[in-house]
Amino acid sequence: MTGDKMQKHKLGNTGVEVSRLGLGGIPFQYISQKEAGDIIGTARERGVNLFYTSRMYRDSENKIGLALRKQRHQVVLGTSTHKRKKNEALKEIRESLGNFDTDVIDIYSLHNVLTLPVLKEIMSPGGAYHALDEMRSAGYIKYVGISAHQPETILAALEMAAFDVVEFPLNYVDREAAEGSEKLIEELRRRGIGLVTIKPMVFGYVGKADVALRYVFDCRPDATIVGTYSLDELKQNLDTEANSIPVSRDEIMDAIAESEKKCFKVFCRRCDTCVACPQGIDIKTLLRWYEYFDRYHSADWVRAHYGVIKPNLEACDNCGICERDCPYHIPIKREFARAKIDLLPRRSPKRLVAKKLFGK
Ligand code: SF4
Ligand code: SF4
Repeated sequence: MTGDKMQKHKLGNTGVEVSRLGLGGIPFQYISQKEAGDIIGTARERGVNLFYTSRMYRDSENKIGLALRKQRHQVVLGTSTHKRKKNEALKEIRESLGNFDTDVIDIYSLHNVLTLPVLKEIMSPGGAYHALDEMRSAGYIKYVGISAHQPETILAALEMAAFDVVEFPLNYVDREAAEGSEKLIEELRRRGIGLVTIKPMVFGYVGKADVALRYVFDCRPDATIVGTYSLDELKQNLDTEANSIPVSRDEIMDAIAESEKKCFKVFCRRCDTCVACPQGIDIKTLLRWYEYFDRYHSADWVRAHYGVIKPNLEACDNCGICERDCPYHIPIKREFARAKIDLLPRRSPKRLVAKKLFGK
């Protein structure tokens, strides 16, 4: 099937219409300009108009900018910064404008606001939010967004500032997010804020890609973005979008079972059963940080922020209570032990010894 038949939705109250399937920027940092251009070109032919990346994904902004140079005004361009200070975020916005080769970026977001303390930091005087707000007033950014993984962080952010768009992970594997999404979507609709969901495939952990996408479409976000590494992957996703029918409960249950085979013992479902840690360690948050390191191509960023989680990791005395309680049998102690080595600076002597001994 070809042609622009893609379903479009209004992005909150922004007045912009976005294709319900958008393209995410993670893969573009790993493939050539030609491959990225082919994927973006095919996506455009099939009606995709939303392209979303982050400063973290290396040259992805440049590749998207180059591929869309002649169609800049027919597309919605989004990117994000993980900087937390205003002056650093201002610098990033100027770089993004140059990378995309544009005078204005449609959506600029605060990337991956993991916790309430991080939110407070970016909202404080001198925090990154004020860079985005100023650039919005000056006309270099049209809409300001925030991406976070916990509904309560987003709800708190909405009370603190004027966000236009929210990016939130939605899939049936991340139980915490899925359970919190209904209330969140309702609140975003009430406020007229756009919702772009992310990580519909959880980096391949969802089992069946088509079921995963249809599940997200059934939740009716304004758009969902998917990273694709090849034209074949893209075409499958476009075909799923074009022929999407509501997903049945049996299909979801089968897909969850399949995903559990893939990620059993390594993917924390944020179920909160392990809250009784005698050391008061926030286990699910630590595991999430390590997931970022391990799977989400954010190793350098997590390493740079190791100081935030180190005291918690070091407080673990290996008592094993959490593993006894975890219904998904996550090897929490082993994951923490791995994290303590993996997150050390690349050239730290301790890490180099571990690499020699264990090949890590
Ligand atoms: S093993 Fe570590 S994280 Fe788990 S309950 Fe004990 S102290 Fe807490
Ligand atoms: S009990 Fe297991 S799955 Fe649930 S939050 Fe804790 S580590 Fe994650």
